Amino acid sequence: MKNYIKELKGERKEKRYKQCEECGKLIEQVSNRTKYCEECARKIWEEQNRKNNRERMRKIRSKDKSL
Ligand SMILES: [Zn+2]
Repeated sequence: MKNYIKELKGERKEKRYKQCEECGKLIEQVSNRTKYCEECARKIWEEQNRKNNRERMRKIRSKDKSL
């Protein structure tokens, strides 16, 4: 696995690679904001979405109670 990463790095010097902050997978750094591989990015995005929705629901519910 480590050899594979080394080869990948050596072959394409014009491309920048970094490790996914979540799973450590090597990913192509498209922009400075790239932190996660596609899988983790989607997972994190979905989780944040879910959290935001829950927060929104709670706010709506608590508003209903006070009425
Ligand atoms: Zn990842």
